[in-house]
Amino acid sequence: MTEQSNKILLSANNLTKTFGNFNANEKVDFSILKGEIHALLGENGAGKSTFVKMIYGLLKPDYGEIYWKNNIIDLSGPRHARDLGIGMVFQHFSLFDALTVLENISLAMPGKLDLFGLENKINNVSQEYGLQIDPHSRIYNLSVGEQQRVEIIRCLLQDPELLIMDEPTSVLTPQEISKLFDVLLKLSDKGCSILFITHKLEEVRSLTSRATILRRGANVGTVNTSDHTAKSLSQMMVGHEVIDTNSKTLKIDNSNSLLIKDLSRPAETRFSISLKNINLKVNGGEILGIAGIAGNGQYELMETLIGEHIINDEQKIIFNNKDLTMLKPNKRREEGISFIPEERIGHATVSNFNLSENYYLTDYINKKSSNYGIIKAMVRFR
Ligand code: ADP
Ligand code: MG
Repeated sequence: MTEQSNKILLSANNLTKTFGNFNANEKVDFSILKGEIHALLGENGAGKSTFVKMIYGLLKPDYGEIYWKNNIIDLSGPRHARDLGIGMVFQHFSLFDALTVLENISLAMPGKLDLFGLENKINNVSQEYGLQIDPHSRIYNLSVGEQQRVEIIRCLLQDPELLIMDEPTSVLTPQEISKLFDVLLKLSDKGCSILFITHKLEEVRSLTSRATILRRGANVGTVNTSDHTAKSLSQMMVGHEVIDTNSKTLKIDNSNSLLIKDLSRPAETRFSISLKNINLKVNGGEILGIAGIAGNGQYELMETLIGEHIINDEQKIIFNNKDLTMLKPNKRREEGISFIPEERIGHATVSNFNLSENYYLTDYINKKSSNYGIIKAMVRFR
């Protein structure tokens, strides 16, 4: 055995996965070294999640092999992967909102339940890695960053040798990202390998030593990140030079606007935020960003703007000179307002409906696809 192969923790050979006649992963070769932080890069839909689900035992490859410490393995499922030493933090968390941190973690632990012993272990891991968390907090009281901490602690309690993280930074604030990176660097110092999915290229350069780039399901290269710039990495991701679009000038239309006037709303529970005298104007053609650390009223503002929460008042939300303040969400849609919430799965889409079924859930309002409840369009219901 060569010195190099001794250093390889996990490798994949020709790994292939198709859904119907779509190749989500095509003959992917890959390897990660012991203690290495390795980025898996690619555009949306490139096949990154599919790849890591195969090496975590959640999806069965159609063909190809996975090697763990140079031995071929045939994963029977995530439990098998965890037993070998593979842990995974998902893009969408899998925690029960109404349960405490301790209760949630206990559900994942094999063997006899010992809550007192488990609480000590949680506190030890939390101190060792600077992942502050109160084991008795309920999940619904935690910020997204804290919920991710719970997921990471749950993985670390099982002493993984490989930690897979699927887009862990997409939901975090810059401060939380820098804390997460400290944890990952500590883990890698202790010899744990980390496979980190992202499409934020500056992160790749600051954290990882190598990156593998997937494009349309195929591995288009594994590179040393220090030899690359964000630009050259993005070029590999998309397959051609990326043209800067910043120079485009916006056509602003003052006559067509969303106006928010002195919008206020009291906090409804101990954990929600009140809105105080918010004034904004968004002209037609304009893009307006709202900045702020998560949990400072963004959710409440959006809920009020789309009509999921209606305030009993008038002339607070005006769109194209029409007062929407008391209108329900469907009526606001009819006026031409669309909304993509932070949490798409569950809030905006039904995950086991297909695209046309999801489309129909809101499109019936336009009456393009139905008449008197009869579906005109080619919508397939199961
Ligand atoms: P990424 O994580 O890089 O964004 P994914 O691995 O999630 O990409 O998806 C790759 C492609 O495979 C996408 O086009 C996606 O729609 C498709 N895909 C993923 N999972 C399934 C599935 N269970 N059934 C059908 N198509 C899927
Ligand atoms: Mg993904």
